[in-house]
Amino acid sequence: MSSNAGAEPSRRRGRVIVISGPSGTGKTSICNALLRRLPGAVWSVSATTRPPRGGEISGQSYEFISPQEFERREVADEFLETAEYVGHRYGTPRRPVQDAVDQGQYVIMEIDVQGGIQVARKVPDAICIFVLPPDLESLRARLEGRRTEAQEQISRRLAKADGEIAVARDSGCYRYFVINDVLEATIAQVEQIIHAEQSHS
Ligand code: 5GP
Repeated sequence: MSSNAGAEPSRRRGRVIVISGPSGTGKTSICNALLRRLPGAVWSVSATTRPPRGGEISGQSYEFISPQEFERREVADEFLETAEYVGHRYGTPRRPVQDAVDQGQYVIMEIDVQGGIQVARKVPDAICIFVLPPDLESLRARLEGRRTEAQEQISRRLAKADGEIAVARDSGCYRYFVINDVLEATIAQVEQIIHAEQSHS
């Protein structure tokens, strides 16, 4: 994933930007667009125990680690948040987030709703955005079109979607819900949210 880390040494306050939503809603495309377009935006590389999918390289989208290593880091309090998602552990390393925020950068993290709630509570000025699919059928079509997961994994991810949306709503931690129907329009909407947040802070 690209980053705009070197662009413009800025004097603005760094911000954490959380993008959550059910699997297949287009979160990764939105994050990639933000990384290209927002000056000083960096990607938060999560650690996970899930095996890499075709083409994924450790250290880029994720750091792929063993369950034992995950547990060691968790006990050492190295994660800002952690979650379990369809049988695998995921966690956001704390240190790189803090360093980037201190340097005035936007830290983009694509994390699930359990993690988003933890971040919102620990980082009160985090901008938390939840991405919704236009409907569940389009979500199924996107997951099947991706051809990266087995049918059983797709079914588990779809079954989770309703619950995730309810948890996000009930938590009160997500100030923004955007429906990703037309990707370009959604990206523009997310950019507007971030700019509005920055100008009011
Ligand atoms: P995937 O396996 O499709 O890459 O990710 C599955 C889910 O885990 C997605 O909802 C993704 O946003 C979420 N996720 C990825 N990294 C993290 C993380 O560090 N923490 C949490 N809580 N969720 C994560």
